[in-house]
Amino acid sequence: MSSQKIKKENCPHLSEIKITQTEKKACGVCGERENLRLCTSCGGVFCCESHQAHNREHYEKTGHPIIVPLPAGTPLTWIWCWVDNAYLE
Ligand SMILES: [Zn+2]
Ligand SMILES: [Zn+2]
Ligand SMILES: [Zn+2]
Repeated sequence: MSSQKIKKENCPHLSEIKITQTEKKACGVCGERENLRLCTSCGGVFCCESHQAHNREHYEKTGHPIIVPLPAGTPLTWIWCWVDNAYLE
């Protein structure tokens, strides 16, 4: 799957970011502890596509649009929008 980049200004979902930090250290579904992603709408933590892809499953269930990697750096290492299917820069 190729991943594109778009400018932050062109993502209408950026305003839905509410949570960028968490104490959670495991996927909320399977307990995976590596390559975690944080849902910035609800604070849920899920594993990435190199594991069981619970981050994608969470988006498909909830429509929560934006994830960031954990541990979350400052500034954030990257921001991914599921709806736009792109990294925001
Ligand atoms: Zn977006
Ligand atoms: Zn998982
Ligand atoms: Zn969520």
